[in-house]
Amino acid sequence: MKEMEKETTESRHYGEFGGQYIPETLMAELDRVAQAYDHYKNDPDFLKELHDLLNNYANRPSLLYYAKQMTEDLGGAKIYLKREDLNHTGAHKINNVIGQALLAKRMGKTRLIAETGAGQHGVATATIADLFNMDCEIFMGKEDTERQKLNVYRMELLGAKVHPVTTGSMVLKDAVNATLQEWTQRIDDTFYVMGSAVGPYPFPEMVHDFQSVISKESKQQILEAEGKLPDMVVACVGGGSNAIGSFANYIDDKDVQLVGCEAAGKGVDTDQTAATIERGSVGIFHGMKSMFLQNKYGQIDKVYSISAGLDYPGVGPEHAHLAELKRAKYVGITDDEAVNAFEYIAKTEGIVAAIESCHAVAYVEKIAPKMRKDQIIICTLSGRGDKDVASIAKYRGVNIDD
Ligand SMILES: *Cc1c(COP(=O)(O)O)cnc(C)c1O
Repeated sequence: MKEMEKETTESRHYGEFGGQYIPETLMAELDRVAQAYDHYKNDPDFLKELHDLLNNYANRPSLLYYAKQMTEDLGGAKIYLKREDLNHTGAHKINNVIGQALLAKRMGKTRLIAETGAGQHGVATATIADLFNMDCEIFMGKEDTERQKLNVYRMELLGAKVHPVTTGSMVLKDAVNATLQEWTQRIDDTFYVMGSAVGPYPFPEMVHDFQSVISKESKQQILEAEGKLPDMVVACVGGGSNAIGSFANYIDDKDVQLVGCEAAGKGVDTDQTAATIERGSVGIFHGMKSMFLQNKYGQIDKVYSISAGLDYPGVGPEHAHLAELKRAKYVGITDDEAVNAFEYIAKTEGIVAAIESCHAVAYVEKIAPKMRKDQIIICTLSGRGDKDVASIAKYRGVNIDD
């Protein structure tokens, strides 16, 4: 570890966070990925193909929708929703997958591997593998394969092979370990499509760049609609990809408040939580130095949230840095608050949003009434909520199984 740390340069870090804490076999391959990315991120042909796919396949630009009903009901700041739920495959994940898969193709790779928690990233990866005619294998904690049977079947329908991971607690963090392991064993034809703004450099940077299309568009859209920047941007944070994409183009606009909503589960003060920045401490895991929920020996905690997409014990290094700088604020939202927001946005705006996204909506419900009517909030809806209907019904004691 010492050796590797010495070799890493400033650009691979976000303050003290980030880096590349990985086995030597992967180091050379990560360098190749970093070099390829450095080249292609400025290559006009690459960028043209990326934008073509985003616009003509993924359905970008996504709407910036003025939520009139919510705004009037809450009686404070004007609320706009950035509609990533309207993207093909139903979430922001596709923005990043198209970018990374395109890079993999340029590097001559023929096989994509990825981890998935709830299955959204696995579905997006399987989808793009079809489009690019590549092989696709998805690693998913065995417990998650049982909780998310529909998405397992969907990935198989798309031609991906799904591997249930039976190590550790058989959830997302174990799936990341298994995917890294698989990559170590087969780097020649294989690219690991990382699902969030986490992992060793250059993944956090690539994911930041590919997701920053969210705030690039929202900035243009809000300037067109209102002639000024928003006062606040709110997004939910699992590993932090939709949030970093929502924040990216506002980070230098110091008057725009950035708020990330973490899953507090049953409460930040309970041990059934996933509020990494609020409750966690500095550590090294999954190839990066960042904030993690862990015990005093550095063993990663079992985390909990009603939302499978936020159920991750760490957070991307750039968020850890933004929190340390106090440039962004991170708040915990409980299961109860998120479920209430799920029902609220459905009834007010007619939008069934992902339970992950509803963590951000819940914060908007709290903060908008305290703001002035001439102020503006942009809240990212990271995904659509069809996948959550059954579990929300169950949470409310309604049986819709038969
Ligand atoms: C995966 C997912 C998330 C969490 O991931 P981030 O990397 O933090 O964005 C949030 N919302 C939806 C709909 C997701 O599918």
